[in-house]
Amino acid sequence: MLTIYSDTHRLHYGQAELMDGKMQPCFEKPSRADMVLDRVKAVGLGEVRGPDEFGQSPLLRVHSAAYVEFLENAWKEWSALGRSHDALPLVWPVRGLRTDRIPADIDGKLGYFAMDAGVPITAGTWEAIRQSANVAMTAMQEVANGAKSAFALCRPPGHHAAADYMGGYCYLNNAAIAAQALLDRGAKKVAILDVDYHHGNGTQSIFYDRADVMFVSIHGDPMVEYPHFLGFADEYGAGPGFGFNHNYPLPHGAAWPMYEQALADGIRKIQAYAPDAVVVSLGVDTFKDDPISQFKLENSDYLTMGKMIAEIASPTLFVMEGGYAVEDIGVNAVNVLLGFEGK
Ligand SMILES: [Zn+2]
Repeated sequence: MLTIYSDTHRLHYGQAELMDGKMQPCFEKPSRADMVLDRVKAVGLGEVRGPDEFGQSPLLRVHSAAYVEFLENAWKEWSALGRSHDALPLVWPVRGLRTDRIPADIDGKLGYFAMDAGVPITAGTWEAIRQSANVAMTAMQEVANGAKSAFALCRPPGHHAAADYMGGYCYLNNAAIAAQALLDRGAKKVAILDVDYHHGNGTQSIFYDRADVMFVSIHGDPMVEYPHFLGFADEYGAGPGFGFNHNYPLPHGAAWPMYEQALADGIRKIQAYAPDAVVVSLGVDTFKDDPISQFKLENSDYLTMGKMIAEIASPTLFVMEGGYAVEDIGVNAVNVLLGFEGK
């Protein structure tokens, strides 16, 4: 399987995030991608090459122009105030507050275009997230051109980012950008299978009212887990998209037997949908030792996961999302890919 990777991700390295009431070192850090790349090479998964440049037009197919412009200019506006530390939002437009006016100052914009404080913007963030989307697009191109599969080793991840807001370490929704690009290259139906521990709220919201993208997500129950405000089992889609959104919230402590049942059911729904291509939002924070998650998957479960995904028998693009148990993230992510290849 071809892997697309770029060192540019290193330009995004947030200093701190708000967790459990404290500013802590970011869990989403460059060593995550290093561990996955090392493992790809160690097992000889296949060729590794850099991304091509796709410009902004694929981003604008799923994100609003105002949001992309904000991302491009946020650091410039922040640093123009003499601030050299990470830009973080502080105030959000919740119930009863107005969302019809975009603030003119950077502090207002950060809140307007964010769902939480887990999205530090640094000097290199724009370049890193742009390149992460290029990584997804390059791997997508490979699948669009007939490859059975490809792996986009994206960092930063993307599935919490919606059309016009960032959140949960995510800025541009790489999986959604790639899924839309597959449609734009002739696919009639694309399924997105999100196996990250956290609900892919951004991806769901982008395609919620559409029938040409089915979204299936298995994740920690939002009643007790981030992102808290989306990802429940009764979210089936809206309008023409009704029946094309399937959430499998599972309780804290869920281990493989329970996970496997949900995955098998989700895969059956995807098979019945008969997509032209599948995009897998590949998060491995379902691992038992993940420092911010509560599932109990073992290293070997990821091999089985990959085998099950292969049974969909559709061209498949894997897009890296979360996973914070840095020692194991490479083994677990690559186990899914090896399992997919029947190894
Ligand atoms: Zn996650």
